[in-house]
Amino acid sequence: MQDIRIAVLEGDDVGKEIIPATLSVLYAACKLVNLNITWIDLLMGVDAHNKYGDTFPKETEEKLNNVIGIIAGPIGHNTYPRNDPSWRIPPLRKKFEMFASVKPIHSYKNIESYKKDIDIIFVREVTEGLLSSETIVAGSAEYRPNDEITISSRVITRKGANRVAKEAFKIAKYYDRKKVTAAHKEPVYRLSCGMFIEECRKVSLDFPNIIYDEKLIDTTAMHLVTSPEDFDVVVTTNQFGDILTDLGAGLVGSLGLAPGLCIGEDKAMAQATHGSAPDIAGRDIANPYALIVSSAMLLDWIGNKFNIDKANIVAKKIKQSVDTVIESGINITKDIGGTSGTKAMTKAIIDNLK
Ligand code: ATP
Repeated sequence: MQDIRIAVLEGDDVGKEIIPATLSVLYAACKLVNLNITWIDLLMGVDAHNKYGDTFPKETEEKLNNVIGIIAGPIGHNTYPRNDPSWRIPPLRKKFEMFASVKPIHSYKNIESYKKDIDIIFVREVTEGLLSSETIVAGSAEYRPNDEITISSRVITRKGANRVAKEAFKIAKYYDRKKVTAAHKEPVYRLSCGMFIEECRKVSLDFPNIIYDEKLIDTTAMHLVTSPEDFDVVVTTNQFGDILTDLGAGLVGSLGLAPGLCIGEDKAMAQATHGSAPDIAGRDIANPYALIVSSAMLLDWIGNKFNIDKANIVAKKIKQSVDTVIESGINITKDIGGTSGTKAMTKAIIDNLK
């Protein structure tokens, strides 16, 4: 059996609460089925800076070569200088070719949300496209030839478009979804979005049981607000996906309900959509849902990738327990209408593991 080595990067601010919360749930769930995982704690953020003078030290980056999974807390990069090395987190996706960011959102009946019956999986390409910290690595960048003009370029490759489209259809098939919608702006970006949808169309032919649909990115944004129940799996390019996934978090009621998994060929990284949330850090307020569910997604991915059934079972148990706690409406955090803290919600999730 594949040795399961997972790196844990606590990071800053609420990372110091949601990482311990997530690990305690994972330990308890793994114990139930005797699943052995080697956890490797690595420094990132202020603690790393205090020890190594660098928020994302070489020691941390090198050790990531030898793991199959990463659980990354948030890094308080907004408080660091713009050129701080903490920006190496997005390029890590490129370095390890973790090309698809998978972000599921769904509404709960008892949690106030913009609309009910939302159940969407966003699949966003994250190794190319238009986002400076990532595109620098992908070979394009922003530059300012003189003080009056700035140019940002956008890279779409056939390989990048094809593999993210394939991942979206594979995910749709795995979760028994009916439809994949490619969100694009081909009438304007004829070549780049043109290539993206050409590959989506090509891949769709291999999945005849899944409906393939295309929507302009602006229409997608509007329909996500007016009729989110029409969406199933949405695949899109980097920057469009960045915006749509935060819109999705808003639709279901809280950033705290937006998990994410960055998938590559042989490594994946669990990361909540939210940032380090310094405004609520250290007060036992943060909702641990996003990182706990992201980590369950990581175990499910590991289970499928390396045929480790126990990892799939752990993932399922965690998600079931999280759903039970949220649907009970008791022991949930304030951002989703409760009165409990991070620790009480985490304990309830552990207590409900079956
Ligand atoms: P970044 O730029 O690092 O992604 P951000 O500026 O988007 O971060 P966040 O840190 O994600 O901001 O926080 C945005 C808002 O959402 C804040 O008011 C924060 O308190 C709230 N928030 C973020 N995460 C959580 C959470 N886990 N539980 C409850 N509220 C949260």
